Amino acid sequence: MNGITDKVIVITGASSGMGAAAAAHLAARGAKIVLGARRADRIEALAAEIVEAGGQATAVATDVTNRDDLTKLVATAVETYGRIDVLINNAGLMPLSPLDRLKVDEWDRMIDVNIKGVLYGIAAALPHMKAQKHGHIINVSSVAGHKIFEGSAVYSATKFAVRALSDGLRAEAAPHNIRTTIISPGAVKTELLDHISEKDVQSANQDYVGQVGVAAETFARMVAFAISEPEDVGISEIVFRPTVQQ
Ligand code: NDP
Repeated sequence: MNGITDKVIVITGASSGMGAAAAAHLAARGAKIVLGARRADRIEALAAEIVEAGGQATAVATDVTNRDDLTKLVATAVETYGRIDVLINNAGLMPLSPLDRLKVDEWDRMIDVNIKGVLYGIAAALPHMKAQKHGHIINVSSVAGHKIFEGSAVYSATKFAVRALSDGLRAEAAPHNIRTTIISPGAVKTELLDHISEKDVQSANQDYVGQVGVAAETFARMVAFAISEPEDVGISEIVFRPTVQQ
């Protein structure tokens, strides 16, 4: 036993980047993985790869802005594998831009995915975890959830919010034997920058992350560490970043 084998782990945003890396890593260590994201073809292909390699995985097309989708994602874990041990609220968007460019639709989308998506995940998992008297919710914030960069006001606001609601969840859920962990990554090479619509902001960020960004597997190792600690040890937050990132 390694603290991960046989655990039932639900991951949102499992179709690319850090969520996909965590799914593959945790499955290789014996976890039963339920993958959620909108791109069903991607999560189905990853689930098939995991099964092909001898692991266990199920894919459920999920839009985290739709509460019913998250209810179904968590229910699938419970129906298929008997319980939910860990929920990783990882899905997120980062269309950075200065406020005065008034990308109000993008502000709305970040609030919907990065904050409401996490809350809907909590709403889906918490009743099961309370009934089980056991569980672990891992929410993905960011170094940008600790400090604000030019162009990151709304993104940072959503990631500050993730830390605030995680601290609130921890206080309320701990008596029910439910652990809450925040993971705050720095620059990681993923598809996150592909969706920045402001081309000058996108190219500056691509240059920076291209130079210093660490691999998505770094996140997978951090998540595995938090999950694999004994049940009576709660990891409140892991902040990691490329060594050269301030
Ligand atoms: P990616 O763009 O590679 O992955 C983002 C994931 O979120 C995708 O799987 C995408 O799936 C999913 N997603 C987006 N919108 C929705 C939605 N409405 N419903 C369901 N899933 C959705 O980026 P990363 O791996 O980098 O991002 C993962 C998390 O890490 C995010 O929360 C991000 O903010 C955070 N982060 C990233 C950093 C980095 O440097 N890369 C640094 C700090 C934090 P699909 O499109 O198929 O739905």
